[in-house]
Amino acid sequence: MSATADEGLMTGSLICAHCGQSVPPGTFCGFCGAHLHEEKGRRRLGHFAASPSEHVLRTALISTLFPHLMRRHAHVFRETFAGGALLVLVLAALRLYTPALLLAAALLPVLYLLYVHEAEVWERRPLSALLATFGVGLLLGVGYSLGFGQLITPSFAGTEQGPLLSGILLPVVAQLAMVVGPSTLLWRKDLDEALDGLSVGVMSAFGFVFASVVAGYWHNLTAPLVGQAAVSSDQILNILRVAIIGAVVSASTTGLVTVTLWLRRHGRGRGLQKSILLQPAAMVFVALLAQVGLGLGSYFLSSLLAVVALWALGAAALLMALRVVTHLALLEEGAAHVIAPSSPCSECHMVVPSMHFCPHCGAARSAAPKRFRPDLEVVR
Ligand SMILES: [Zn+2]
Ligand SMILES: [Zn+2]
Repeated sequence: MSATADEGLMTGSLICAHCGQSVPPGTFCGFCGAHLHEEKGRRRLGHFAASPSEHVLRTALISTLFPHLMRRHAHVFRETFAGGALLVLVLAALRLYTPALLLAAALLPVLYLLYVHEAEVWERRPLSALLATFGVGLLLGVGYSLGFGQLITPSFAGTEQGPLLSGILLPVVAQLAMVVGPSTLLWRKDLDEALDGLSVGVMSAFGFVFASVVAGYWHNLTAPLVGQAAVSSDQILNILRVAIIGAVVSASTTGLVTVTLWLRRHGRGRGLQKSILLQPAAMVFVALLAQVGLGLGSYFLSSLLAVVALWALGAAALLMALRVVTHLALLEEGAAHVIAPSSPCSECHMVVPSMHFCPHCGAARSAAPKRFRPDLEVVR
């Protein structure tokens, strides 16, 4: 324990060695979120800001893309996702090709809408804005599929076009299209938090991927229910890659861009976390590089299994990158130093002083479901 922490505990409050503010005693600083008693506490990588019981440097689908979810509800979403993915494989094995394809495409978007409802993500936010982002993603996804109609279906197989088109141009166009919907909301004052940026980015990407998969495979969807001989296991593997792994990849790359754009645009940074990872230009570069890398990989790799493995690795790495960026953004974001009356924390259920972070478990209060959020708005 540092000297400042020791002194502080004696007097009932302490000076955080990381931000210099006087804060209530606890394990974490309620103002900057730093771990008060660890040498490298400023970034507290052992405690993800949206879910402090988890390490930041891990690949976790649910707590990264669904950060407002309370820990005790997260396992339901995890199991539903795993069950849904398994059901896709079972349906495919039974040659029920159309249901398998539809389920694969709809799994993550439907889970996300359930999350928005369960975590009350939009209780104090305009639900219409979220649905509009999803709708714009859908429209652009359909437009992308139809616009590149002759190109896109073969490009899933990755062999019929030159690398410039299927490896570079199409992934770049798709990524830019996924940022269009969210960017129209960038100036709204009622959507000013980094996690709002994440929500609209993920929603837009899920809408886009859903629509482009459904439109791209329309000819299969309108085929007889029980699969034809033409449907191979390769195609089913490809559907999984495009519809599920592809959705995770695109949600992560779009989220990287929108989280940093939101943090920059709304000027809520406090200068506590200086990192290139919070620069929007750097994240646009990472997003495009990842999409192009995966596009070129799909083009040049001859084995489908290798392509699926590459995409799975890419999705895992991008999810972790998004988690690090979200964590830093939550630590960076905030307004005036405020200690409001105590309220229960949604993560650890302790009644704690209402601050940007729970002094007991370190959870960012802005990541809590809305009914557990203390009203710190007045001091913004
Ligand atoms: Zn602090
Ligand atoms: Zn807590």
